[in-house]
Amino acid sequence: MKYKKDFLTIIAPCFNEEEGIGRFLDVLTRQMDGSNQDYEIICVDDGSRDRTIDILKKAAEKNIHCRYISFSRNFGKESAMLAGLEHASGDMVIIMDSDLQHPPELIPQMIQKHKEGYDQVIACRDRSGDKKSSIFFAKMYYRIVNHLINVQLQDGAGDYRLLSRRAVEAIISMRETNRFSKGLFSWVGYKQTAIYYKNQQRLEGESKWSFKSLLRYGIDGIISFNTSPLMGCVYLGGTLLTISILYLLYIFINIVFNGIDVPGYFTTIAIIILTSGTQLLSLGIIGEYVGRIYFESKRRPAYLIMDTNIEDE
Ligand code: UDP
Ligand code: MG
Repeated sequence: MKYKKDFLTIIAPCFNEEEGIGRFLDVLTRQMDGSNQDYEIICVDDGSRDRTIDILKKAAEKNIHCRYISFSRNFGKESAMLAGLEHASGDMVIIMDSDLQHPPELIPQMIQKHKEGYDQVIACRDRSGDKKSSIFFAKMYYRIVNHLINVQLQDGAGDYRLLSRRAVEAIISMRETNRFSKGLFSWVGYKQTAIYYKNQQRLEGESKWSFKSLLRYGIDGIISFNTSPLMGCVYLGGTLLTISILYLLYIFINIVFNGIDVPGYFTTIAIIILTSGTQLLSLGIIGEYVGRIYFESKRRPAYLIMDTNIEDE
């Protein structure tokens, strides 16, 4: 697709945001109309089950800057962002949430940084107002993950960011079905800089994250960008094997000098449980990777569009 110079595309994934989306568009358009930046807003309705799409269509009738893409069902935020990127016509793209947790006031500053030559301007939030426990877990998680994988992730650096055209092309060129965008952004590299803002709490609606989905996301982060869990299985197996050989030697020498002693129930059970547990764990880890190969090999599209007002050029 041909893209426009000095043109900004703002991508906002929306899933069941009927309560807040109107206000989001108001605030954003007021902010943008106040600047003299050419822009479009692409709202990607990720299969919402409420009135989100109706509100988006109405907004698009009234406002020439508003575009929408509506999915056939809920495909997840990662797919929504990809759809937005693939349909963006600007040479600058900003991705932001549609719940006003990503303050639009930062946009001029992000554009400014981009003009200074940065390909990715990341708006990082602090964690003020978050629960103590989630701050703690997040800290631990980033420490472990950054130790394990070869791209670096930063706490607070989410999806709110400006991407240059070449960064967008790079993200689109990664065709994996299972998209872990924090990792993808980091993998792309180019010149990056960060600006910081105070954490905003959601005004309307509720967060789409449950504990289970967060856990899943966390595991995704570890697995999609490295194979060291597999290496972990090798180490674990190796250690257990060494210990078993030493123990066998010990028993053998004992038998040679003291004869066979029969009672050994505890040790037998202990070894059976230990080894079978380790085997199951390793199989599980391998299985997780095999499962991913299975899904990637299907090459299914990341999303299906049901309705849009964006015309293909
Ligand atoms: N979102 C989406 N698809 C989903 C879940 C969420 O497009 O399946 C959108 C949602 O509408 C919002 C953004 O992704 O604009 C972030 O979601 P949310 O606010 O629930 O996450 P949080 O801010 O709590 O991390
Ligand atoms: Mg939110």
